[in-house]
Amino acid sequence: MRKLFSLAIVFAVCIGLGACSSKSDDAKMDKFISDLMGKMTIEEKIGQMNLPVVPSEIVTGNQFTEDVLGKIKAGKVGGILNAYGYEVLRDYQKVAVEESRLGIPLLVGLDVIHGYKTIFPVPIAMASSWNPDLMEKMAYIATQEAGTEGISWVYNPMVDVCRDPRWGRVVEGTGEDAYLNGTFAKAFVKGCQDAGAAASVKHLALYGASEGGRDYRETDMSISRMYNEYLYPYKAAVEAGTLTVMGSFNDINGIPATANKALLTDLLRDEWGFDGMLVSDYNAVGELVNHSMGDLKTVTGMAINAGLDMDMVTEGVSKYAEDLLKDGTISEKQIDRACRKVLEVKYKLGLFDNPYKYLEEGKAATTLMSEANQAAAKEAADQVLVLLKNEDKLLPLDASKTIALVGPLADEGDQYSGAWSCLDPHGHQSLKEALEDRGAKVLYAKGSNFLSDAALEQQGAFQHPYIRDERSAESLVAEAVAAARRADVVVAALGEMAAMTGEGVSRADIRIPDCQRTLLEALYKTGKPIVLVLFTGRPLILKWEAEHIPAILNTWFAGSQAGPAIADALLGNTNPSGKITMSFPYDVGQIPVYHNMKPVGRPVAKGAGYVRYNSCYFDIPNEPLYPFGFGLSYSTYEYSDISLSASELAEGQALTASVEVKNTGEVDGDEIVQLYIRDLVSTESRPVKELKGFKKVHLKAGESAKVEFEITPDMLKWYYCASGKPDLKLESGEFQIMIGTNNEEVKSAIINVK
Ligand code: BGC
Repeated sequence: MRKLFSLAIVFAVCIGLGACSSKSDDAKMDKFISDLMGKMTIEEKIGQMNLPVVPSEIVTGNQFTEDVLGKIKAGKVGGILNAYGYEVLRDYQKVAVEESRLGIPLLVGLDVIHGYKTIFPVPIAMASSWNPDLMEKMAYIATQEAGTEGISWVYNPMVDVCRDPRWGRVVEGTGEDAYLNGTFAKAFVKGCQDAGAAASVKHLALYGASEGGRDYRETDMSISRMYNEYLYPYKAAVEAGTLTVMGSFNDINGIPATANKALLTDLLRDEWGFDGMLVSDYNAVGELVNHSMGDLKTVTGMAINAGLDMDMVTEGVSKYAEDLLKDGTISEKQIDRACRKVLEVKYKLGLFDNPYKYLEEGKAATTLMSEANQAAAKEAADQVLVLLKNEDKLLPLDASKTIALVGPLADEGDQYSGAWSCLDPHGHQSLKEALEDRGAKVLYAKGSNFLSDAALEQQGAFQHPYIRDERSAESLVAEAVAAARRADVVVAALGEMAAMTGEGVSRADIRIPDCQRTLLEALYKTGKPIVLVLFTGRPLILKWEAEHIPAILNTWFAGSQAGPAIADALLGNTNPSGKITMSFPYDVGQIPVYHNMKPVGRPVAKGAGYVRYNSCYFDIPNEPLYPFGFGLSYSTYEYSDISLSASELAEGQALTASVEVKNTGEVDGDEIVQLYIRDLVSTESRPVKELKGFKKVHLKAGESAKVEFEITPDMLKWYYCASGKPDLKLESGEFQIMIGTNNEEVKSAIINVK
């Protein structure tokens, strides 16, 4: 085996794994892999396609594999997932390298979604920063930490556009907008692969459009919607050089993604030119049986024919690929192709040169949760907090005042990590501890449990243990009300538990849970000013809260440093600047409600109320409670009208649109300036607003800055699909350019495209 390693080229010197290969590198890699494959039996080639899950405390699905070590020894495993820990992974790798016939190292995959040991804000929160550099930094640090304990393959970024907050997985993504998701996807791939691991953009495709917001359900979508509103972020990740792509669970227009050749081969490989490795999702091959596609052998053949390279968990490929070869369902060429793709990833990672590259002795001790990494997590947490309401400048709090701090989230720092923090070391400072640390006068009372239903509450405590307070609901509320009466202001830390969002956690009622609402209503009756500090992994329905509570700070799940970051924001040591990237519906009946809707034939103006025979609801407004891009600050910002460098645009040209933004408040702050466009007359109906750019500017109190956007014809193109074949084109005519502080408050100008 040593000989094999010496033939390998050290790719590790490349910064940016996807981008580093030159023609001669490729030729060397091809030769190395061809030589290796020349020595492999068909069983060993099929073995590279097998990705079993190792039983461990990290659980991301229901299926498990037996005797993984034995299979590795026999050359029947290409990689493993969900195993963790330096010693454990060293043992697995050792068996692969030293005890299998050809000594081919394993890929080791894990969901490093928003941190490994240092936990950053959940992705939907990271998006609120509108700061792709921050996402890149997070991805780099998380991957680097994971890479000290054996992880070479990161199952992220999750880029699924989603317009339905009932779907629990919105917490893993960056929101409802394809352009924004694509921008963050590129940043994640870069950060992750610069840190030396392979990224895996997921889930191809359209998983976020599962019907009814219920996980794993089908998606039915027109080609126009796919091309214009959903596919861009996957493509962006491919363009950014992601080494691997993960398929999705859902059925797409009748064909589940795992068996969907049009998606996995025609689109991904042929149209987008993806040259990396395609892995199925967790047992997704096996689940084709439940999708009524046939028995396991049949569906394995379908998946391979659709373009599968690696089979996560099912082991259908291990069991049936040889039979499928014999009966001609698949060809040896397909096995060779898949095996080569897996080996290429290993080669590009440098695993053939050093199979213990991700298991360097002593590295974990200096890397994991280092001071610098914690500081980066704090910087991130500071940037993701979204101030939704701040009547009469209730925030920031006056430090001399007494705060009644109540709510089940006030002193449960470990919940702040949110979903997908598999290896969260716990022990994070809670909001209570952080406020006390900063010298605030706090009267603490828990006020309620998370949910009235104790059994469901334990489900919400998955991976983030919670000990239920056994006192009666009434006595908990009474204690909190008494604390509120003795205080000047109430801070109510309420919301979801960490594991009430994430995979498999769809909710139909997306309000703050029951007993917590009872608590809030009781606090409201005391007449004390209340700040709602909200913890959530999805947009919630906040109709009552928005009407009755003077200040609302949405903190999402902001990670290891959430407690200190929230305390700093409440006390005015920092100024919140986050803006939401998913609309907060006014009511659940509006879902899906999102910013880039199409115009209707019978529009109703905002605030017009119910207008019979027009497009509106009888009982609620059309608009969301908080629109996409919305977020307040302790400062205020004033926008000038838009200045255009030209009012006409043609192919090959560009123009600039700029505004002057002034911080008219009394404190320094960061403002996120957003650019939207609308095609005013078109041969296919186009959205009323499409996000096309954004800039985050730091402005001192009283300071102004000119914020400029370049507008090119490419930004105005869209896929014409009426002919059945998507055609990216630029249509002439008028376009509206809008720049503003959120999706609804914008300045507007018109340009003419020739
Ligand atoms: C999820 C993926 C994840 C995989 C591996 C699946 O259940 O859908 O997002 O990467 O498990 O843990």
